[in-house]
Amino acid sequence: MKRKKTIALIAHDNKKSDIVNWALKNKETLENYELCGTGTTARLIGEATDLKVKRYLSGPLGGDQQIGAKIAEKKIDMVVFFWDPLSAQPHDPDVKALLRIAVVYDIPIATNRATADYVIHSSYMEQ
Ligand code: PGA
Repeated sequence: MKRKKTIALIAHDNKKSDIVNWALKNKETLENYELCGTGTTARLIGEATDLKVKRYLSGPLGGDQQIGAKIAEKKIDMVVFFWDPLSAQPHDPDVKALLRIAVVYDIPIATNRATADYVIHSSYMEQ
């Protein structure tokens, strides 16, 4: 049996309501995937949608690095990462590392809503 694809969900604080709204809007589609995310983002999406979202540590405490490691292990197939372009983040090096490792392993990483919509509804997601 083919394994379900896994999507990682991450949002910086000013983008959390955006990712929760995006997840609510795409709940039916997201039901077809394994979901995981950084601590707070995963909790908020889980509470709002009732979807099961595996929680890693909070981003500033290493959650981005944990997700990066899973990408390197080929356990994550797509990332939705709504980062905040208007605020400095204490864990900026981790954020850069996550973006980098997603490129190294050539997995789709959607960093805004428009891209997330394109990717989640792409026929490539079925392959
Ligand atoms: P959080 O982490 O979901 O635990 O807030 C996200 C981040 O800031 O990278």
